[in-house]
Amino acid sequence: MFQGRHFFFGGIEHCVHQFINCRTTFVVYVLICVCGSFYVGKTKRSLMERVREHRNSIRTGKGRTRLIKHIRCQHGGDANVLRFAGLELIPPFIRGRRYTPSPAPKGSLVYY
Ligand SMILES: [Zn+2]
Repeated sequence: MFQGRHFFFGGIEHCVHQFINCRTTFVVYVLICVCGSFYVGKTKRSLMERVREHRNSIRTGKGRTRLIKHIRCQHGGDANVLRFAGLELIPPFIRGRRYTPSPAPKGSLVYY
């Protein structure tokens, strides 16, 4: 997991203003691939749990998400090419509704 407050993907420098670690829930997160592709997702469970789930689905090949396809086709199914970071917390008052994080990354491999 990225520890810094600033990181760069999709041609934009992202700044994380909130404290997010792997046990944080209700998080918008990004998985960044070594090739520069990235996947932005959100989870109401802990970030660690969600990332573990991504890794499992990549390993087993179950699921048809573009993330899984990308890692399996481009990187031989090696989930270690991914690094993840929390981007922002989903505010309590919009939990359960559609939520669009800001800034919207451009050129995202998958954007929910
Ligand atoms: Zn890649």
